Amino acid sequence: MIHRQTLSQLAAALRARKVSSVELVRTYLARIEASQPALNAFVSITAEHALAAAEAADRALAAGRGGPLEGVPIGHKDLFCTAGVRTTCGSRMLENFVSPYDATVVTRLRAAGAVMLGKLNMDEFAMGSSNETSHFGPVRNPWNTALVPGGSSGGSAAAVAARLLPAATATDTGGSIRQPAAFCGITGIKPTYGRVSRYGMIAFASSLDQGGVLAASAEDAAWLLREMAGFDPRDSTSVDAPVPDYPAGLDAPLAGMKIGLLKEFFDTGLDPQYERCVREALAVFERLGATLCEVSLPNISLSVPVYYVVAPAECSSNLARYDGVRFGHRCADARDLQDLYKRSRSEGFGAEVKRRIMTGTYVLSAGYYDAYYLKAQRARRLISAEFARAFGEVDLLMGPTTPTVAFALGAKTADPITMYLNDIYTIGANLAGLPAMSIPCGFAAGLPAGLQIIGPHFAEQRLLQAAHRYQLETDWHVRLPEQYA
Ligand code: GLN
Repeated sequence: MIHRQTLSQLAAALRARKVSSVELVRTYLARIEASQPALNAFVSITAEHALAAAEAADRALAAGRGGPLEGVPIGHKDLFCTAGVRTTCGSRMLENFVSPYDATVVTRLRAAGAVMLGKLNMDEFAMGSSNETSHFGPVRNPWNTALVPGGSSGGSAAAVAARLLPAATATDTGGSIRQPAAFCGITGIKPTYGRVSRYGMIAFASSLDQGGVLAASAEDAAWLLREMAGFDPRDSTSVDAPVPDYPAGLDAPLAGMKIGLLKEFFDTGLDPQYERCVREALAVFERLGATLCEVSLPNISLSVPVYYVVAPAECSSNLARYDGVRFGHRCADARDLQDLYKRSRSEGFGAEVKRRIMTGTYVLSAGYYDAYYLKAQRARRLISAEFARAFGEVDLLMGPTTPTVAFALGAKTADPITMYLNDIYTIGANLAGLPAMSIPCGFAAGLPAGLQIIGPHFAEQRLLQAAHRYQLETDWHVRLPEQYA
């Protein structure tokens, strides 16, 4: 069965001409169409475009040409700009926005031969942890459609979990790759800040946003990341460092690796069944030859408050461009310029986005800047320093990805703070710009639990290697929701 094959297996089968790209694209498009009423994972399905690209890929393969991902179907989170295909960012504000250019990530994956099947649903402007803030309706969790898939990359995660696609792009500002990966039982990697270009990726909080991958395994994530990563002169924060051949380094043994357990992550509100899954996963690493010790990050508890000052501050600035003139939805019959700005923004943005813009404007305003924004920046520096110190002693840090498994739709929408607390374990890596992953590590009350792995800057190779070795020993990552098996 095609959908049970991994991305790397599919790439090999295409190259060996055991399967055609058109065949793959048709198979996945049929799965997408069938799942859409239940899951709502896609905002746009680009069937015609995909079939044309698949035919071109098949011709390239027949001629012995083509990139490493030639003919492999993928999807993009709907905040990566795609020329000619609308990019909505999950918002009414950009409901009809068609970018005149491609994001670098999109260009690179196309150059590697990947075929885009569509644009994936997401929380509005990537603000959310449940995919309930999308203008295009919530995405549902394929393990149980009464539950959220996590957010903000909920469409990407649900699509990969239900194998509507072998893999998808996603972004992570405070946990939006790892948290939905955990909730949907798949593998996600947020690379080091600066590893993957942000050019053409619609900005939420520019000092935290990072593009990455949601896939069925660490091996597949390595395949995709190798093509996405690398210096881009169009992104001033992109880092000019060579990209390792991630798939080639996966098999290295873990003997002698030092793993630090994040003490605070086990102390604060972690569900006991979830904790059991994580502890059992850690025991597997011990059996593989790693040594475990406890590591404390005393200021990590400041992550959530720091993030909810810094991220809204940056978003209030980034989202100022959507004024109905330069970008975005424009209201009808404006009386004057003030009215045009006011009503276009009031109509175009949803409640969560407005809440963030207001918070951000407040913390940046004269008189509050020092008390909130500057203080948050100082605390952010402290958190980074604590991580740096920890990586003087250990090779990787591990802990749970989230405090609980996926929750019910509507369970947290009335109380933003409870929603924000979902990211209590993931935000630290964003504040410090560190690479971090989530991999499936078992089931708590029948739902997937995620093990989080955090590494020092540019240690993606080590993260993927650890995750891959674990996945060779376990089968959590190959289990599928019954309906999509
Ligand atoms: N859930 C967090 C938020 O709402 C993180 C989102 C993200 O990583 N894009 O801001």
